[in-house]
Amino acid sequence: MGRAKLSISVLITPREIVARLDEYVIGQTAAKRALAIAAYAHMRRIRGDLKGQKKSNVLLIGPTGSGKTLLAKHLADVMDVPFSTADATEYTAAGYYGKDVELMLSDLLKACEDDSERAGRGMIFLDEIDKLARKSIGDYKTGSVRDIGGEGTQQALLKLFDDKDASVQEGDGFSKKTVVLHTKDILFICAGTFTDLYGDLEARRLIGFSDGKTDSRAKRRLIETKDLVSYGMLPELLGRIPVVVELKPLDLHDLERVLTEPADSITKEFTDRLAADEVELIIQKNALQEIARHAMNRNTGARGLRAIMEHVCADLFFEAPERKGDKIKINAAYVRARLASFSNR
Ligand code: ADP
Repeated sequence: MGRAKLSISVLITPREIVARLDEYVIGQTAAKRALAIAAYAHMRRIRGDLKGQKKSNVLLIGPTGSGKTLLAKHLADVMDVPFSTADATEYTAAGYYGKDVELMLSDLLKACEDDSERAGRGMIFLDEIDKLARKSIGDYKTGSVRDIGGEGTQQALLKLFDDKDASVQEGDGFSKKTVVLHTKDILFICAGTFTDLYGDLEARRLIGFSDGKTDSRAKRRLIETKDLVSYGMLPELLGRIPVVVELKPLDLHDLERVLTEPADSITKEFTDRLAADEVELIIQKNALQEIARHAMNRNTGARGLRAIMEHVCADLFFEAPERKGDKIKINAAYVRARLASFSNR
């Protein structure tokens, strides 16, 4: 198939992309807009409208459970491209113990049933990229410095992020064969919490370390390339990830919204599960607030919400087949009692 046939005929605008992301992802407006712009430019590039332009690979920086994976996944859906995820900590530079970075491409190929044309325009979400930060121990003066971080893996990623003809295994067992996949049009969305970096920047901000200017600039955009370099990321790698997007930690109100508002929200899912047994579940607002508070205390963003809801509703799910026709209201006191009984076990 020729390249022309691969063109994306209907271009979806940044505004439309944000609207689609809004259906599933709460808040993170700035991140959605930045992603939409990058995705739009990427689609234009693939169509051949922007010749010679650099790929808009993205780095998402934000706390755990703030929606980094969720945003990337839905962005791939909106762009109608195959999507796969990878954990940076599992990969190593060639020749070391661990996976070769090219293996990421096999996963992408699997995600689209070995259609290498589609895989060539796919999206790879590479989590925990901050864990590849260069960390050296030893003494530079004596020359006994040893790289104990993931610098080698960062080096291995350089070509992949850019334009590489990579040999990739497709299929399994007897049908296994090697195909060449070009990475030129594969969009890499990297993500990391960069936790220590935030602590450091916050400390600098608090002691007024902002070029003698007011804090406003630091508040608006905390992270700069030089911060990421001093964190241990290779400048050459950062050069291949031109779009840097920061996500905010979700607040109590956001967490409450995550429970109910997304098209596939947890409360919709749980209500449907009970409705299958003809049990009507009504979760009162104060119960949602209580669940959000618990999630907030766990410090894992929206990630903890599902487990909390499972705890809260466990007895209901157990009894549901015997409670046909019941209408069950859950309030804050019920949530507290349920969660207390679980933590005491
Ligand atoms: P991370 O930022 O650690 O990649 P994820 O995107 O994997 O977080 O989110 C973990 C879970 O929390 C997902 O199942 C998702 O449903 C929920 N979640 C996180 N952030 C949001 C958000 N902004 N809006 C809706 N749901 C969210």
